[in-house]
Amino acid sequence: MPSPIEIYILGSGSAIPTLQRKHPAVALRYEGECLLFDCGECTQLGLQKAGISPMKIKRIFITHWHADHFAGLLPLIETLHMLGRKKALYIYGPEARRFVDYILELSYLSFGFKIKAKDVSIEEKERIVNEKKYYVYSFPVRHSVPCVAYIFQEKAHWKMNPQKLTELKIPREKIRKLKARKKINLNGKEIRLAEVAEKIEGRKIIYSGDTLPVKELFEEAKNAVLIHEATFKYKRDTGFYHSSIEEVCELAKKYGVRKLILMHFSRRYKKHASLEKFAKRLFESIIVAKDGMKIVV
Ligand SMILES: [Zn+2]
Repeated sequence: MPSPIEIYILGSGSAIPTLQRKHPAVALRYEGECLLFDCGECTQLGLQKAGISPMKIKRIFITHWHADHFAGLLPLIETLHMLGRKKALYIYGPEARRFVDYILELSYLSFGFKIKAKDVSIEEKERIVNEKKYYVYSFPVRHSVPCVAYIFQEKAHWKMNPQKLTELKIPREKIRKLKARKKINLNGKEIRLAEVAEKIEGRKIIYSGDTLPVKELFEEAKNAVLIHEATFKYKRDTGFYHSSIEEVCELAKKYGVRKLILMHFSRRYKKHASLEKFAKRLFESIIVAKDGMKIVV
């Protein structure tokens, strides 16, 4: 069984937070690691509520430098310092080095761990993380300022077929070699990995950031879980480089998104239930995010 990927909606609101919806932040937990996508005001409270230690966060991915997406960074860094963090913290984003420097200048903070800010491309899709079991890519989107989406891509893995292994009498110690090299030679006969195992494609989770609907992002999201902003309900309301539930649902249907999670709602929508009702009529496989929600993939 593959390890679960847990998605925590820490904040599902937009520029002005409300008592129900905090600034945007999404945590993803996988194999004991925690990745944070955006870090609006009150992200720490969302983490506490979700029972996630901020010390587990190794990487923070900021989509763009509007305050609703980064205002929680400085207090989070202060907390890490007070908890005695030693491990480096990586912060990604368009122009991340410049903005992280500014943020750190704002405080008398001196801390005992390194902050490594990394700029990501706003021109093209870029692989920015290559871990043992997953990649993270940045992907340019269209907002009023430089902004990117992020793609978490689990690496494919091979599921061995025990029956085939027995049939072909492959000794245990050779299996690791077979996995690594994709083929081995056994008693003069070549055995390919594909003969005795099934390739399982990795799961893909995409987080859009603030953006107009971008067709290419939906193409990327075929069969994936897409967490997309939907500041407004109706197409006619979109402007200011945001998306609407109507547009996002239409494109999700067209491009075969497996599961759509909507968030970043304008504070004008006070009733969650009516947003949900509206969205569910437009696309079946949908979750209208709420603060504190946990989704397991
Ligand atoms: Zn925003």
